[in-house]
Amino acid sequence: MFFTAVVFMLLWLFQIVFLENFYEGMKISDVKQKAVTILEHYGEEDYSAMLTNMAINNDLCIEITDKYNRTLYSKDVMGRNCLIHGPNNICYQFIQKLKESGKRALYFKEFNNTINSDTLIMVSTIGSLDDPEGYLVINTPLAPIGSTASIIKKQLVIITFYLLVLGLIISFFMSRRIADPITRITKSAEQLAAGKYDTKFEGGGYLEIQQLASTLTYAGQEISKVDSMQRDLIANVSHDLRTPLTMLKAYAEMIRDLSGDNPQKRNEHLEIIIEETDRLAQLVNDILDLSKLEDGNQKLNYSEFSITEVLDGIIARYKGISKQSDYNIHYQPDKDVMVKCDVIKIQQVIYNLINNAINYTGDDKQVFVRQINKPDCVRIEVSDTGEGISQDKISLIFDKYYRSENHKREVVGTGLGLSIVKAILKKHGYNFGVYSVIGTGSTFWFEISDILPDDLSEDDEKEQKK
Ligand code: ADP
Repeated sequence: MFFTAVVFMLLWLFQIVFLENFYEGMKISDVKQKAVTILEHYGEEDYSAMLTNMAINNDLCIEITDKYNRTLYSKDVMGRNCLIHGPNNICYQFIQKLKESGKRALYFKEFNNTINSDTLIMVSTIGSLDDPEGYLVINTPLAPIGSTASIIKKQLVIITFYLLVLGLIISFFMSRRIADPITRITKSAEQLAAGKYDTKFEGGGYLEIQQLASTLTYAGQEISKVDSMQRDLIANVSHDLRTPLTMLKAYAEMIRDLSGDNPQKRNEHLEIIIEETDRLAQLVNDILDLSKLEDGNQKLNYSEFSITEVLDGIIARYKGISKQSDYNIHYQPDKDVMVKCDVIKIQQVIYNLINNAINYTGDDKQVFVRQINKPDCVRIEVSDTGEGISQDKISLIFDKYYRSENHKREVVGTGLGLSIVKAILKKHGYNFGVYSVIGTGSTFWFEISDILPDDLSEDDEKEQKK
């Protein structure tokens, strides 16, 4: 309706209010142009024939006089109806007015009673203003705009009516194609907000709405996943917290009621309490680490260091720990390489992988750590000789809280170690993975791609220069 009103107003303004002025302006510039042509060719051969042509083709009456008002050329297309040539020949009055005004040209709008319409009269000096050679008078009828305007007015009313009807029909269909699906989507979104994550959004209508609907359906599915993951997380965390807490309580009660006076038993029980407390602390630390890593705002703390030295240090520390000293950790370094990444986090990855290898390796208690320099990265591999991981489990082990049920020996773990490894490596953008052969062992690997070119070996440097 608004659009129709605007269109109608514009049409009304241009076709009715300004029509007359516009038409007159156009006519004046037209007559002016013709006058210029007439004056340019003044006195040429065939001048009379040219004037006749001009008069007939442009519906003009032309009168050219000398400076004494004696007619030199007179071309007439309106005959008796002409204001400047007809019975009321008033041509000389206009010339007189021009002389009095001292201007080069004048325009007059005169009503012609005989044809019952306005006419436009132009009178202009020929030659110089001070001593004119003669005068040019042109007369042309102005079409009666009033009647044209009233026709247009009627047309406008009809057009407005049709536009209104058309507008109503268009808006009806548009509302069906746009508003209806949006209303449906809104209703579904309300259901989604209420926790019904399997809500299916139905689009329809335009392609964009269809896309919006499928995106929202997808968003619903993703929210549902996050929601169930959150539920799992709480369930897992509370389960993992409850077990050591129960143990702590049980052993504390045992010390109070039974073993308090028996130093040997008491120490045994206290040892268990300490172990369980460690386990609890480890679990809480892992959960905190993981949640920090998964927080998108946490930035990595990049520094430059030698990966070979870091690996050396870690392995030396393992060898120093008495409990793990009976494990044989073989380290196979490559040439010293400088890398640029978050050293603390990469150390944590290596610790987690070596811890797992120690926990899950075979009875020979062998663990292998390898550094392999590649042209564009350093690959670190940690292998064990354990039972290996079956193919269907491999895709699960990096998930949060996944722990295989059949641990060979009592393994202290939270099920978060590999999730932390994955989060750190993903944050760095490094490739990682595992290959495993059942009965032979598993190899976990990752590749640090931020190596510093200055520290490439000489051979590599030569090759690069080539
Ligand atoms: P945790 O070791 O605390 O259980 P992780 O996230 O480190 O948790 O590992 C998840 C699971 O992946 C483990 O429970 C284990 O089943 C499997 N896993 C990890 N490392 C190895 C390995 N070196 N050999 C065999 N299985 C492994």
